[in-house]
Amino acid sequence: MAYDTPVPGYKNNTVNNLRLWSAKASREFDLNYFNDGDYIKAVSEKSVSENITKVLYPNDNVFEGKELRLKQEYFFVSATIQDIVRRYKKTHSGFKDFPDMVAIQLNDTHPAIAIPDLMRILMDDEGLCWEESWDITVKTFGYTNHTILPEALERWPVSLMEKVLPRHMQIIYEINRRFIEQLNSMYPGNNSMVSELSIIEEGPEKKVRMANLAIIGSHSLNGVAALHSEILKTHVFKDFYKLWPEKFNNKTNGITQRRWLKLCNPRLSNLITGVIGDGWITDLYQMKQLKPYSEKEDFQQQWLDVKKANKEFLAKYIISHNGIAVNVDSIFDIQVKRLHEYKRQLLNCLHVIAMYNRIKDNPNGNFVPRTVIFAGKAAPGYYMAKLIIKLINSVGETVNNDPQVRDKLKLLFLRNYAVSNAEKIIPAADLSEQISTAGTEASGTGNMKFALNGALTIGTLDGANVEIREEVGDENIFIFGLDADGVSSLKKSGYNPFYYYNNNPELSRVINQIQNGFFSKSQPDLFRPIVDSLLYQGDTYMLFADFDSYVKCQERVAEAFTDRKKWARMSILNTAGMGKFSTDRTIAEYAKDIWNVKPVQVKGPGPA
Ligand SMILES: *Cc1c(COP(=O)(O)O)cnc(C)c1O
Repeated sequence: MAYDTPVPGYKNNTVNNLRLWSAKASREFDLNYFNDGDYIKAVSEKSVSENITKVLYPNDNVFEGKELRLKQEYFFVSATIQDIVRRYKKTHSGFKDFPDMVAIQLNDTHPAIAIPDLMRILMDDEGLCWEESWDITVKTFGYTNHTILPEALERWPVSLMEKVLPRHMQIIYEINRRFIEQLNSMYPGNNSMVSELSIIEEGPEKKVRMANLAIIGSHSLNGVAALHSEILKTHVFKDFYKLWPEKFNNKTNGITQRRWLKLCNPRLSNLITGVIGDGWITDLYQMKQLKPYSEKEDFQQQWLDVKKANKEFLAKYIISHNGIAVNVDSIFDIQVKRLHEYKRQLLNCLHVIAMYNRIKDNPNGNFVPRTVIFAGKAAPGYYMAKLIIKLINSVGETVNNDPQVRDKLKLLFLRNYAVSNAEKIIPAADLSEQISTAGTEASGTGNMKFALNGALTIGTLDGANVEIREEVGDENIFIFGLDADGVSSLKKSGYNPFYYYNNNPELSRVINQIQNGFFSKSQPDLFRPIVDSLLYQGDTYMLFADFDSYVKCQERVAEAFTDRKKWARMSILNTAGMGKFSTDRTIAEYAKDIWNVKPVQVKGPGPA
């Protein structure tokens, strides 16, 4: 069943239609089974078919090869492709204009089965030959890659595909046969290239590599930030790049300023509109007109007043949800995003423990007060992510209840992170934590939301952080740690976490506390798996390599925060530098470079 969801544009006389699908049994109740006395079977067919769209798989950046998930992916694809073909045929008799009238962008590989599905429809239903069908298919599809984490790449067992989608599997084999024939004629005898690029991964269990299928079946392949798109060319898909350099391109992600500033932060929106007008709402590049105001003391003060009001609003939310009073003059240091080891919430938590130890060692010392706020969901089956949430909450218990610490430091984990509370949290941030291991975060968009709302970023040179630094200037962002090349050369030369553990007493003390049950007194071994993953299982995401640089960078943050005028200027310059990160820019680039479509101006009561 189709569900049509209107998507109104912002004062542009346009409402687009988002068509979503739900699986419904064609008959509520099968009377034939019922009449034969099989009551269970009479209703089970309904629940089995409706299960296909019952759940959104909650994984983030990890592949779950469940049969129901494959059926779900195919269900959504099949409904959509049938609908597209039906609509095209209402106004066209042949298929030669199909790629000019239709562009299909694969949002990751989850819908990549659409490639053999369109081939199947064009050949089996519409009677076109292979060559004609393939030409149409490749011209129609584009593929956006969203991650380079190997555990996230979809690799469906051939046996499962043959059972669930036998005709599609035949077509995939034929796509691959012709592709390898082409490879062999271009690079004769290059067997390693063939085994790298083949859609089929050989081994004890043959697998279909959906990314390879998506690249071969599309005319465009893009990453979602400049660094990510470079890594696709030089590492992940480097042999495809040799073969088809013209398919590769970059589309840096964006966010919509209508939701992530105008709607969620009316105080700041009004302050900005008061000085530069409201053109930024539909043209975020106009935000650069704020730059001269970054030097004006009265504007700086108004800017800081807005931030304080937003922090007071969030403080009330925290009281009602966590029962903890926070100091609104402290640094609101915020990391909100899905829980994943590569995003390194654990590194942030180690820093909190280090700050706690410094306060305990010197209770009368001068510390810049901080409120460290986390939120984010872990996939239900992701044990280590769940344990990191538990650690953050346990450290919070210790820190928040220590009478010597008081309002110098608070640590909170807000439950149920989602867009609705992100809209309350982000406008209140002073500091945005974007600290993934360099080379692992494809783009990030949280980083953009925070900077647009005047938070300063502490981050690695990863994903779109690289481009945010280019836009706001090196002096207005706190960059630390290894870059992507540094990470990969340290990995090659043999990374040893013990080296850092043995040479940094502040780090080893923090790790020993976690290991010895300092934060889990009734269950001293509770957090052993976290210590083991860092010390004995190789610290995959290199927290130890970046710890020292991170802690020192946080000291620079605290120092900068005490100079309120300087902080206000940096904050204003962050908002002013965010023009590039509007999704208006991103979508215009997809339209021009990949879909070959031009915007239309619709006449009507709103502005043209
Ligand atoms: C923007 C957003 C994200 C993405 O955040 P990153 O920091 O880029 O990982 C995740 N969840 C919600 C609710 C968001 O609004």
